Amino acid sequence: MSLSIAQSAIKTNLYELGIDQLADDLSEFGYPLFRARQIWQWLYRHYVDDFNEMTNLPLPLRQQLATMFTLRSSTIVSSQQSIDGQTTKVLFRLDDNQLVETVLMKYRKRRTLCISTQAGCAMGCVFCATGQMGFFRNLSVPEIISQVLHFARQLGKENQKVTNIVLMGMGEPLHNYNNTLAAVDRFIDDVGFNLGARKITISTVGLVPAIRRYADEQRQTALAISLHAATDEERNKLIPINKKWPIAELMDACRYYIRRTNRRLTFEWALINRENDTLEQAQALGRLLQGMLCHVNLIPLNPTDGYGGAPSERDRVTAFQGELKRFGISSTVRVRRGIDIQAGCGQLRDRYSREQ
Ligand code: SAH
Ligand code: SF4
Repeated sequence: MSLSIAQSAIKTNLYELGIDQLADDLSEFGYPLFRARQIWQWLYRHYVDDFNEMTNLPLPLRQQLATMFTLRSSTIVSSQQSIDGQTTKVLFRLDDNQLVETVLMKYRKRRTLCISTQAGCAMGCVFCATGQMGFFRNLSVPEIISQVLHFARQLGKENQKVTNIVLMGMGEPLHNYNNTLAAVDRFIDDVGFNLGARKITISTVGLVPAIRRYADEQRQTALAISLHAATDEERNKLIPINKKWPIAELMDACRYYIRRTNRRLTFEWALINRENDTLEQAQALGRLLQGMLCHVNLIPLNPTDGYGGAPSERDRVTAFQGELKRFGISSTVRVRRGIDIQAGCGQLRDRYSREQ
């Protein structure tokens, strides 16, 4: 092994550090606090990924940084754009060859990123491509952050910015709680990336203790619960983790979240034709959510190779939504985006590796 490779193996990834840690590390070498702030702005305001571009730092400091830290945690394998040009999907290869995907969706003035928090997922939801592949590992803080910074850099070239982030890519965010929330804190840090907390949505399959912890931490980022069924019998078939935390316990945690934060919850519901789109399910959902501070997102299923279900027919979607309305529950039918490049919810999976 060459010396440079040996050295890079022991370097810290700079995105791992908070600004205070960076300031501490630099003060050991006699650098004042404002240097840490300058570096921070290069990283999170200008999205620079090379110390040489940090032109207001003295050269010895740039050299010092390059010997102590690395800025890279992934490489881009491919970037695909949908036919309408509004959706871009990037496949990243991590240092241990794991592959994860990130999707940018453009809609009017919105530039929404859908990011991944794990390689694979341990929850095994039957309709989800990531669930079908199983769990490999948690992503590190730099691996989560670099997905966002990559797109921020690309959008910056067109004078545009990331306006929203949804944690709805590969993986269960609350199963990788510490790294996910550390990355989220980095996105909302006003000295750095400075995205409003309300512009970020964390989606969870319903890990009850983690939802309670999230509520206790009084976080301002939005929370979405992937419900998909309103009875345990139906939900057990779709979402195995429901056997551990059944609907009653999940709803208790949801009510606790609303009480603690006074924030509106979103419930996600993938409409599967003649499966969970019946009037009985709509009514059960209506009873479950009646009077709650919430909104329901209805998403016709994105078909995946490992699951036989189909998206609900149009009139069934309308009937389901109509039934919810009778219970006074607001809902939105979400359009499926980027289907031609497999960039829809639950479709994120490395076709690339399967085709090799
Ligand atoms: N693990 C988290 C976040 C990632 S999945 C969660 O489950 O919430 C993001 C959303 O896509 C979830 O609501 C999930 O249920 C949904 N989803 C997964 N597969 C889907 C599919 N094939 N069609 C439509 N939505 C799907
Ligand atoms: Fe994991 Fe979410 Fe897919 Fe379920 S839907 S397998 S929790 S990524």
